[in-house]
Amino acid sequence: MPETRDERRAAGARAAGKPGKAVPRARTPGLLPARGAQGSVGACPRHPERRDEDAALLLLAALAACAPRRDAAPLPGDTVAPDVALLRGAFVAGAQPDGNSVLLRAPQGLIVFDSGRHAAHTQRILDAAREVRQPIAAIVNSHWHLDHVAGNALLRDAWPRAEVYASDAIEGAMRGFLADYRAQLEGALAQAPDGSADAAGWREEIARIDAGARLFPTRPVTATGARTLAGRRVTLGLERNAVSGGDVWLYDPATRTLLAGDLVTLPAPLLDTACAEGWREALARLDALPFATLVPGHGAPMTHAQFAAWRGAYAGLLACAAGDATDADCKAGWLRDAGPLIPEADRALAANLLDYYLPQVLRAPAARRARYCDAEAGR
Ligand SMILES: [Zn+2]
Repeated sequence: MPETRDERRAAGARAAGKPGKAVPRARTPGLLPARGAQGSVGACPRHPERRDEDAALLLLAALAACAPRRDAAPLPGDTVAPDVALLRGAFVAGAQPDGNSVLLRAPQGLIVFDSGRHAAHTQRILDAAREVRQPIAAIVNSHWHLDHVAGNALLRDAWPRAEVYASDAIEGAMRGFLADYRAQLEGALAQAPDGSADAAGWREEIARIDAGARLFPTRPVTATGARTLAGRRVTLGLERNAVSGGDVWLYDPATRTLLAGDLVTLPAPLLDTACAEGWREALARLDALPFATLVPGHGAPMTHAQFAAWRGAYAGLLACAAGDATDADCKAGWLRDAGPLIPEADRALAANLLDYYLPQVLRAPAARRARYCDAEAGR
């Protein structure tokens, strides 16, 4: 897609909304649950038809069997809280990233928060479900960028009854941003020399976009509110004018864990489709939640105090960009303010990202800066 080497590097480093479909994959027969088998794993009875005492006892036993057990095997991945685990997404310069995925154990199966871009990332989610012998009962997408949503196709192939909770902003993105991106990819492919090392990756991106409605929500999130997902009570929040025109966060009151998606990212905010000012306001709403641990869309989990520092660094970056300081000073300000949260190995990536976002987004002409600030009107 990008025309120049620098742009390619920047675009590769930016996680951005580069969609991806699930890629031709070799499914190993027998490893994934067959469609017919889904209901038998962790399916909890909801509508008992028999009313006699024996049936009631059987129902109780079945419910106990399908409820998350305290002595159940830990979820694969990095433990965030009891029954909450993180599968870190790769985010390295020069390659399209995967967002973080989080698994939550629920009475009726697993809740998956964000499904990744590359098939290898999504396969880790499927492997985790197989390992703990629970179905994937619900998928939540923080937003429509491909590094968070493209894995939906693979997950739904394996678990077709899983409900998908997300903003409907992906439908507009398919007609706009993602359609434009697809055209860029086609153009790049048409000009690519034989044997281009990039061509295979571009074709995979096109295939991800072409998954189309298979990436869409089955249960659109249209407002912030309490929801029961797979039997687990959580709050799903919706921010319209922040990162993507439809950002969904999940707050789990049982563990005081907030899954923020790309409303919080390390090593820098990812501003490709952002309304920078609206994002700042959304961060204030997140700060008001009583979470103890926040899982960002990219990077390591953080405490509430660490999030407050990130939020301050974000506000500082916007204030700097609106003032007279040089781009270099604004970049240095971010690296200073968010520095304790940024692993040493990621500082160069942070600098690279801001070298792009400061001139191209935060200090772009007013029309460019406002492009993503009226999500309701654009729907
Ligand atoms: Zn992302």
